Amino acid sequence: MYKDLNKKVAVITGGSKGIGTAISKRFGQEHMSVVINYNSDSKGAQEAADEVEQNGGQAVIVQANVATEEGNASLLQAAIDNFGDLDIWVNNAGMETKAPTHELSLEDWNRVIAVDQTGVFLGSKTALNYFKKQNKAGNIINMSSVHEQIPWPTFSSYAAAKGGVKMFTKTIAMEYAKDNIRVNAIGPGAINTPINAKKFADKEQYDQTVSMVPMNRIGKPEEVAAGAAWLASSESIYVTGVTLFIDGGMTLYPAFMNGQG
Ligand code: NAD
Repeated sequence: MYKDLNKKVAVITGGSKGIGTAISKRFGQEHMSVVINYNSDSKGAQEAADEVEQNGGQAVIVQANVATEEGNASLLQAAIDNFGDLDIWVNNAGMETKAPTHELSLEDWNRVIAVDQTGVFLGSKTALNYFKKQNKAGNIINMSSVHEQIPWPTFSSYAAAKGGVKMFTKTIAMEYAKDNIRVNAIGPGAINTPINAKKFADKEQYDQTVSMVPMNRIGKPEEVAAGAAWLASSESIYVTGVTLFIDGGMTLYPAFMNGQG
């Protein structure tokens, strides 16, 4: 546990399942107060909130679409109304769509960019304005992916969005360092969450994914949440503008294993 996180207030977008739920639970274990955002799955968000409270934290759930300004404003308002402040904002919500790029519809491209990239901009902007108005140190964590670095054929909208999140994170980290606002990203590898449920249910695809991980296994959402807790805490006080890869070594070019290449 990180003592300085006690009673800190966080907003976590896309908290009704997967990595967002794991971060919510971990923040509960840190005795934080958490606004858990969901888009449609209020049941999943409520289960996460219950677990936060069982672990000694506080939680409220708020429906909002992160691709809208009003949605992000309502999350900040919930933090202020329920917990009186905001310390940490986690832009976690994300989605992906698979299609050969020459067949990818503009609608699907826009949907992915709206959530994975514009959502990160709008969430960050909302938090930055609050931190600046209050003249307080702030902390923003953006959920990127190994695909901010590794190309991903047939997922070009996702890779483009995450590549954008990488440079957006670095740019605003530099822009607001003087205001004592830290901005970092997390780059998960292959993690066992609902986004991968279909893929991992297929043994061939599961084994193929594992073969791309030097540590030879799929990651757990809790392992990503541990990185989020560290970045949220003052243990990482001199860290800004980085992507913390939590990927079992996936970004280390595993095809070169055993001296091939
Ligand atoms: P998930 O599908 O389990 O969860 C995604 C969450 O985002 C869901 O709660 C969903 O409702 C929410 N969401 C989607 N659109 C939204 C919107 N418009 N407004 C509000 N919420 C919305 O996926 P996950 O694996 O937990 O992914 C979380 C983040 O981690 C995403 O940004 C994803 O790109 C990233 N990531 C995941 C993996 C992985 O292997 N699981 C790897 C790299 C990066």
